[in-house]
Amino acid sequence: MDIYLHNTLTGKKEVFVPLQKAESALEEKSNKVSIYNCGPTVYNYAHIGNFRTYVFGDILRRIFEYNGFGVDQVMNITDVDDKTIRDSIKAEISLKKFTRKYEDIFKEEQKEMNILTPHAMPRATESIEDMTALIEKLLEKEIAYKTHDGVYFSIQKFPEYGALAHLDRSKPMDTKHGHRIATDEYDKENAEDFALWKFHTPEDGDNAWDASFGKGRPGWHIECSAMAMKALGETIDIHTGATDLIFPHHENEIAQSEAASGKPFVRYWMHAGFLSVDGRKMSKSSHNFYTIPVLKKNGISPLAYRYWLLTSHYRTQVNFTFESVKGADKALQRLLETVTEYRRELGKVDEEKLHIDTAYNALFMKSINDDLNTPQAIALVWDLIKDQEITTEVKYATIIHFDNVFGLELKEMSERKAFSLSTEITPAITELLHEREQARQGKDWDKADELRRALEEKGFDVKDTPDGQKLIPR
Ligand code: AMP
Ligand code: ZN
Repeated sequence: MDIYLHNTLTGKKEVFVPLQKAESALEEKSNKVSIYNCGPTVYNYAHIGNFRTYVFGDILRRIFEYNGFGVDQVMNITDVDDKTIRDSIKAEISLKKFTRKYEDIFKEEQKEMNILTPHAMPRATESIEDMTALIEKLLEKEIAYKTHDGVYFSIQKFPEYGALAHLDRSKPMDTKHGHRIATDEYDKENAEDFALWKFHTPEDGDNAWDASFGKGRPGWHIECSAMAMKALGETIDIHTGATDLIFPHHENEIAQSEAASGKPFVRYWMHAGFLSVDGRKMSKSSHNFYTIPVLKKNGISPLAYRYWLLTSHYRTQVNFTFESVKGADKALQRLLETVTEYRRELGKVDEEKLHIDTAYNALFMKSINDDLNTPQAIALVWDLIKDQEITTEVKYATIIHFDNVFGLELKEMSERKAFSLSTEITPAITELLHEREQARQGKDWDKADELRRALEEKGFDVKDTPDGQKLIPR
C-alpha cells in the first residue's frame, strides 16, 4: 500500500518513493528509508512541546516498520551552540558535564514516552571534524568566506536559497558582505549570510576547536548538515522537525549540504505543528512550558500524554490543557481495561496463532499511510471494540498489532494486569467475593457496597457482569 506524506518543500501530500541506498546498513530489506530527526539542544529539560515533535518522529518510524520497511533513523544531540555555551558558563560547569546531564534526562524521558531509540544519536561535539571538512569544501568552492569573526555562507552563491521557507525571491536579498548574521536563530526577514563557524571569543570560555581556517566553534546549522550526511549519505529520504525549524535551520541545512555535495539533500521535509498554551507556542524563552515531571506531578502519565498527542493530526497546532490530557488519560485507562479483559478471557493462548482482522487492518493502514492520520486510526480502535461481529480473540490480536504503531504498551500492560489478577487473588479476597455474591443474592445492597469498598481497598474494582462478578486490578 502506498504511503502519502506531506512535503513542506512542495507544500503537497505526495506518494513516498524511497531512495534505495545501496550503502545502507540494512541491505537485506528491499524497502529502505533513511530518517533524520533534528534532536534536542541539551541545555535544559525538553518540554512537552519538544516531545510532541519527537513522538511524531517515532510514529513516522513505526509506520514505515509496520509497512515492512527497514528504517535507518538518526537523531542528533546538539551539545554545543549559543545556548549550551551560555548556560554552562553561567552554571560554571564544563560544557560536557552540563550537556550530558540533560542528554541523560532526555534519553530517560524518551523511554518514558515509549519513543523507540533511534539507530544512531551522534553528538555535535564528537562530529567537529565532519563539520570542519564540510566548511573547507565550501571555502574551496568559494561559497563560504572568512571574516574577522568567523566563516559565513554566501546565500547569493546558492540561487535555490529560500525554496523550503518559500521566501519571496522576486525582491533582491540583502546579500552584500557585511550583512551577516552570527547568531543561530533569527527570522525570515533577516535572510542574510549566516555563520558556519564562529571564531573563538572570551565569552565562549574553553569551548573552541582548532580548524585550518581558525580556532572556534561551529554554527548550529552546519552541525546537522554534517551529522546527517555522515550518518545517512548525501541524500536522505526524510528530515523532520517542528515548523519553527523551517527557517532558518532547515533552509540553511539545504544550502550548506547541496552547495557542498551538488546533490539533493532531502527528498521529503516533514514538520510538526506547535504545541501551544493559551494560544501561544510553548517555548522555554516564553516561560510557558511544561515538562514530563510536571505532567507526572499532576497525575498524568507520559503514555497518557502520548495517547493525547495521537488524537490530533501531527500537522495541526494543538492547545495544551491539563483537562484535555486528563480526558485522554481516562480514555487510555478504558482502552487498557478493555484489552486486559480480552486478555483475561483468552487465558493462556498461543500468541503466534492469533489472527488479526484483515478488513480492519486495511482501514488502519489506509489511515496511517495517509500522512500519519493517527486520530482516524485511534477512532478505528473504538469502532473495533464496539463491533459485535468480531470475536474477542481477533479484537485482542488486532489491537495489539495496531499498537506497534501507537506505542501505548497495551500488550505488556494488559498482560501485567491480567497476570497480577490471577496470582494475587488471595483466599481473603475470594472470601470477600463470596460474601458479596451472597449479599447480592439476598438483595442486601448496602452490604454488597460495603464489600465492594473492602475489595477496592485491597486493590480491586468489582464489575458485575451477566457471568458474575469480575475483579479488575486498580
Ligand atoms: P530544540 O531543543 O529547541 O532544538 O527543539 C527540539 C525540537 O522541538 C525541534 O524539532 C523543534 O522544532 C521542536 N519544538 C520546539 N518547540 C515546540 C513546540 N511548542 N511544539 C512542538 N514542537 C516544538
Ligand atoms: Zn537540526
